[in-house]
Amino acid sequence: MKIALIPGDGIGPEIINQAVKVLDAVSRRHNVKFSFEEVLMGGVAIDKTGVPLPEETMDICKNSDAVLLGAVGGDEWDNLPGHLRPEAGLLGLRKGLGAFANLRPAILFPQLKNASTLKPEVLGDGLDIMVIRELTGGLYFGEKGREGKGTEERAWDTLVYTYPEIERIARVGFELAMKRGKRLMSVDKANILESSRLWREVVTKIAKDYEEVALSHMYVDNAAMQLIRNPRQFDVIVTENMFGDILSDAASMLTGSLGMLPSASLGEGTPGIYEPIHGSAPQIAGQDKANPIATIMSVSMMLRHSFDMEEGALAIERAVSKVLDKGYRTEDIMENSKELVGTNKMGDLIVNEI
Ligand code: NAD
Repeated sequence: MKIALIPGDGIGPEIINQAVKVLDAVSRRHNVKFSFEEVLMGGVAIDKTGVPLPEETMDICKNSDAVLLGAVGGDEWDNLPGHLRPEAGLLGLRKGLGAFANLRPAILFPQLKNASTLKPEVLGDGLDIMVIRELTGGLYFGEKGREGKGTEERAWDTLVYTYPEIERIARVGFELAMKRGKRLMSVDKANILESSRLWREVVTKIAKDYEEVALSHMYVDNAAMQLIRNPRQFDVIVTENMFGDILSDAASMLTGSLGMLPSASLGEGTPGIYEPIHGSAPQIAGQDKANPIATIMSVSMMLRHSFDMEEGALAIERAVSKVLDKGYRTEDIMENSKELVGTNKMGDLIVNEI
């Protein structure tokens, strides 16, 4: 399996190192071979090549079986024009690989219940929600513009979805629901938005192919409230780009720890992109403080969704759980009476359990 590695900026290189150690451990245990090719993207690519996503990076990513990404961005590149900022590299990569489905599990490990801002009775015995966000359409990619000057100035963005765009993301939702609890919640704003009305019609049509899945619909404002009021009612949520951006962040904070959550961005017949949901955390970069678990759990998603290696994925998840059981914590998830460890040590402990 050929994996393109994008360490990126800030804590990116440190956490990617831990993920590579974990892949090597899986390789030894499960007798598979991974080869790695490191490429530039983000601020480091801007410094070395003048652009956030060099052509060579795109070519190598397209020719690999999966892409593992740390994080990009930092203050030093914040004043560049939009198309030259590190984030433009991220959007370009997703678009270039046709990654239209962003899978963001919000999993609360029972060992970290205290990290959540919600009351224990709301959390019950843990949380396991899968948010699927459409990633290449909608408001973030529609026609936009600005005109006029001073108080006459105006600006606009447009929210467009086509039938095929909705159908393919709906199918990802139904397929994943089939593998999980067979419940799918489609989130829209069909009481106001025309694009949401089409969204709801298409999702309802596709449901006929998945009779075992219980489909329901919810307006996005209500979904935001329900996520905090009673998150355990959700199994799989599927929604458009901007609603998904916001709801998946809210869902992940229910688990209390940015440093624990992975993500996958998938296309059709293209390599998947796997990355932690957090950013490059420049304040703690290079200090052996970053929690590598989100990146390591992204490796687990890679094995499951790109390489069909369920056993390897489970081995990683069990190893993470055991290390938490034994009381080891990085600073971001530290509690009284637990043992504080750094990025490297956390990686080694997980490797040992594998
Ligand atoms: P951030 O996710 O980097 O950090 C938010 C907070 O969480 C900080 O306090 C940080 O120290 C902490 N944190 C994040 N990851 C952690 C980890 N693994 N272990 C321990 N603590 C962790 O978000 P931000 O501060 O808003 O952004 C910093 C930079 O990252 C910006 O340049 C932003 O544009 C970029 N960013 C990149 C991505 C990406 O590459 N996908 C996503 C979000 C933000």
